[in-house]
Amino acid sequence: MNTEHSEFIKNFEDEVRNTIEKYALINRGERVLVACSGGKDSTTTLYLLNKFGYSPEAMIIDLEIGEYSKKNLNNIKSFCSEHNIKLHNVSFKEVFGYSMCYIRSVLNSKYGLGSCHVCGVLKRVLMNRKSREMGFDKIATGHNLDDESQNIFMNLIQGNVSFCARLGPMTGQVKDKQFVQRIKPLYFCPEDNVRRYSKLMEFPVVYEPCPCSVNTFRSFIGEILDSMETENPKTKKNIVNNIMELKPALIEHYKTTEKITYCEICGEPSQNKVCNACELIKKLRD
Ligand code: AMP
Ligand code: ZN
Repeated sequence: MNTEHSEFIKNFEDEVRNTIEKYALINRGERVLVACSGGKDSTTTLYLLNKFGYSPEAMIIDLEIGEYSKKNLNNIKSFCSEHNIKLHNVSFKEVFGYSMCYIRSVLNSKYGLGSCHVCGVLKRVLMNRKSREMGFDKIATGHNLDDESQNIFMNLIQGNVSFCARLGPMTGQVKDKQFVQRIKPLYFCPEDNVRRYSKLMEFPVVYEPCPCSVNTFRSFIGEILDSMETENPKTKKNIVNNIMELKPALIEHYKTTEKITYCEICGEPSQNKVCNACELIKKLRD
């Protein structure tokens, strides 16, 4: 490998290590589960946590969205067997009783809800429940700087500024034994760098986006941010860093609204009487 590539790899790995250490994402001895989609971001996260000696295990939620899911499942299986990492395979349909495609298409046509929103809410609840049941202390995802700057922009546009109080490489301001803290070791890594790293490392991953994520509000915001980044190459970093700077003030301001209760239907931690996932399933049956 040439010097330029080796230097890039070293800098990339240093940045991830710094994020883990600076924000104390994992304490020694804690059990970490990496939520793996089979894509470049979560595979990179899994590879690095393993390389840094945190002995992670992996979990894939099989969404069974045709060929795309099959390829991702096979890729993560071969990656985990090559690196000797335990993989947990969770079937979405077995837990929720319906396929993701069915839930999404019904909620989309009945209520105009976006695919990524529905998928994200249901996956998050499942990640929390499964990782808690398996006794993990932390759940790591592959969210990168692009994802986070998109989240901030989307929430500001939707008038949901209180969301920004919960931002950061470690989620969960409110400690709760039912809630497994989520960590994002690639928080400050631009997506282009993750892609470059994953390609240089020859990870077995699919680089096309999820077929359901095209023409969504998120992809629209992503394109706007990409064009702003071309004009000013620090756009995404500035958005995330500036909101991170405001975070203590936002936490102070919103602390009264940040109360955890338990969903009266499924028992998962929730900010409302019924959690977002059960709300969606209720809508599906209405
Ligand atoms: P997304 O919601 O697709 O933007 O993915 C965000 C993060 O969630 C990824 O980086 C993964 O860590 C995790 N993730 C996404 N899809 C899955 C899946 N099917 N199974 C497990 N984890 C996933
Ligand atoms: Zn619920």
